[in-house]
Amino acid sequence: MVFYRKYRPQKIEELDSAEIRETLYSVFSKNTYPHAFLFTGPKGLGKTSTARIVAKIINCEKHRDIKGKKTEKEIEPCNHCDQCTSISNGNNFDILEIDGASNRGIDEIRDLREKIKLSPSRALKKVYIIDEVHMLTTEAFNALLKTLEEPPSHAIFILCTTEPNKVPGTIVSRCFHINFTKATQEEFVRSLTRVSKAEDLKTEKDALVEIAKLADGSFRDGVKILEEVSLISNGKTITKDLVDEKFKLLGIEGYILEMLDRLSEKDRKKAFELLEKMQKQGVDARFFIEKLMENLHESLLGKIGVLEDKAKHKLTLPEIKRMLEMLSKAHMDSRYSLLSQMPLEFFIIEWTEEVPVAEVVSEKESNSDPVPAKVPVKADGEEKIFKDLIEETKKHNVSVAGVLHSCSLKSYDGKSFIIETKYKFHKERLEEQKAKKVLQDSLKELTGKELEVSVILS
Ligand SMILES: [Zn+2]
Repeated sequence: MVFYRKYRPQKIEELDSAEIRETLYSVFSKNTYPHAFLFTGPKGLGKTSTARIVAKIINCEKHRDIKGKKTEKEIEPCNHCDQCTSISNGNNFDILEIDGASNRGIDEIRDLREKIKLSPSRALKKVYIIDEVHMLTTEAFNALLKTLEEPPSHAIFILCTTEPNKVPGTIVSRCFHINFTKATQEEFVRSLTRVSKAEDLKTEKDALVEIAKLADGSFRDGVKILEEVSLISNGKTITKDLVDEKFKLLGIEGYILEMLDRLSEKDRKKAFELLEKMQKQGVDARFFIEKLMENLHESLLGKIGVLEDKAKHKLTLPEIKRMLEMLSKAHMDSRYSLLSQMPLEFFIIEWTEEVPVAEVVSEKESNSDPVPAKVPVKADGEEKIFKDLIEETKKHNVSVAGVLHSCSLKSYDGKSFIIETKYKFHKERLEEQKAKKVLQDSLKELTGKELEVSVILS
């Protein structure tokens, strides 16, 4: 059986999050507990697994009759009695899992309200697990609300959702809310250690930390990597190097230095050639972004004197800072991108077309004329306002200010402000909503007026 299914958490102790473990132990230490729960948080953090564990805690035959405060051990389901095993196997008739996405109408909820009146057949309590509850229609929510207002004593509700803001407040207020967040690295390593112990694998802690990084909070991905690496380890100790080798990460350091060289030279063609070479070797783009950021972050700390400066590239402090900003956006985008390398490609394109950040800074210091020589001479006032605009913009967005440096002022009549540029990509960059807002805000700061900003190609 694959690790993921085999090691899906079966009791509280096996859940990643220390906070959720503590909450559940505390809620179920008494014999009275809430009749409705709301589990919120992103996909893949174990909401449904936890809901099944709760169904088992409530119905497990082993500790049913304990009166008074229960110990953590007594709260845990035994995972051996009929109730526990049937819930684990998904064939307990009193535990109903409903997918809110495909049963979203009033008829389904009415049906649920009818059936809920009947006592459980064998379990102590009927447990209704409604997944993706935010998908229910308004009518269905109203029907559900009536049930939650007067629930039969034999029923427990567990509502799960990735989008809590779409669940009506009247429902939320009747539930005990547990929010699931991404496991910390330490918590994740704890879960991987559990699997590796159960499988009798020899693993170095560093290897598990590396897997946790690669899996980025997803238990499913993490155990999959562990399983794949265990297959090539041939019973030997699983080391960080082995994990890296499996994921073609050895030698990534060389790629990082080469890429930083290409980027500091703004050599787009060579940067793309390198990217292609890496892709052929199976280097994961998202992981490469992370490693680039780690390297730059170290350089940043080196440049400001917190760490020893060991940087092997020529990037300046403002460039490093700017590159980190752009990379963190690329990293965020890569999570949702259909093609995982695309955000990295966009980053390279944007970086190589931006005016060097260092230039912006040195010009500020040397106070040289930022307007290109070929620009027709403007009236003094107009020239000054454009210079002031660059300075003002720099406070909000260095990159937009950088682009402005190679543009000029076409006209300004107190109402509209027209910027001229030779490059299509500069026009597009300045017309981005965020850039436009920066320009408008900066101009308002300077002139006290709301100006119409437009960009034209010369
Ligand atoms: Zn049991």
